[in-house]
Amino acid sequence: MTTYSYSRLSTFEKCPLSYKYKYLDKIKPEIPFTGIEAFMGSTVHEALEYLYRRQKKMPNDDISLILILDKYETIWNENWSEDVKVVKEGMKKEDYFLQGKKILADYYTNHQPFNAETTLSVEERIDVNIEGFKVMGFIDRVAVNNETGNLEIHDYKTSGRLPQIADLQNDRQLALYQIGARKKHPEYNENDADVIYHYLRFNEEFRFRKTDEELNAVKKDIVDLIQTIELSSWENNFKPCVSNLCRWCEFSSLCPAFSQSGRLSDHLSI
Ligand code: SF4
Repeated sequence: MTTYSYSRLSTFEKCPLSYKYKYLDKIKPEIPFTGIEAFMGSTVHEALEYLYRRQKKMPNDDISLILILDKYETIWNENWSEDVKVVKEGMKKEDYFLQGKKILADYYTNHQPFNAETTLSVEERIDVNIEGFKVMGFIDRVAVNNETGNLEIHDYKTSGRLPQIADLQNDRQLALYQIGARKKHPEYNENDADVIYHYLRFNEEFRFRKTDEELNAVKKDIVDLIQTIELSSWENNFKPCVSNLCRWCEFSSLCPAFSQSGRLSDHLSI
């Protein structure tokens, strides 16, 4: 039986054809492509992961900002490859490198000495069974609030745009994490679980907790989506969805809808 990751579900929602290329045909792009925004985001995530792993291991040790920034630079250099591409006009590799550094410096300043919570795990895998369908995801950080004793699920975003609150409230990822974390840490069930989205570029945090009723509605939503995906697979019917996101699509060179659309910039606001 297929296990659906959160990114697998969201790939289908963004473009069913790219879902087919990626997950069913397992096509390796002729020209490997990683957008530099995603590269910078994953480098920041790894640096934060290092910070909290170290803090969990040595809670009484001070962690300096210089150490975190050095780690960021090391990870950046080790993982950099020619497959990482800058798409946005007027931007250079160095601009993104510095953006990541600033994000980490701001986060460090706002959260040190990192004692508001006790970290239980970083990059924790959760597996949820919803009406017989398997769904999995990775939580950036699970912690317990030292003041309230509540379980906290921290998710770090490096997106350049702030979301609408309504979008976050309806976000499936949030609910999935909440369901998974409660299951994985039953000793904290009584206190329920808060989900905190950190929009790092803006120094903004959004905190939510879904009721059981809301969680059940999300579960139904996920089941509906998986059934739509399985029906598409059965009918071999995956429609392309041309949008601004095609600029970052690793399959654009073989996508008929993309080539038929001519110059995307002629009719899309990019
Ligand atoms: S180029 Fe656009 S329409 Fe084509 S597969 Fe990629 S995201 Fe979908």
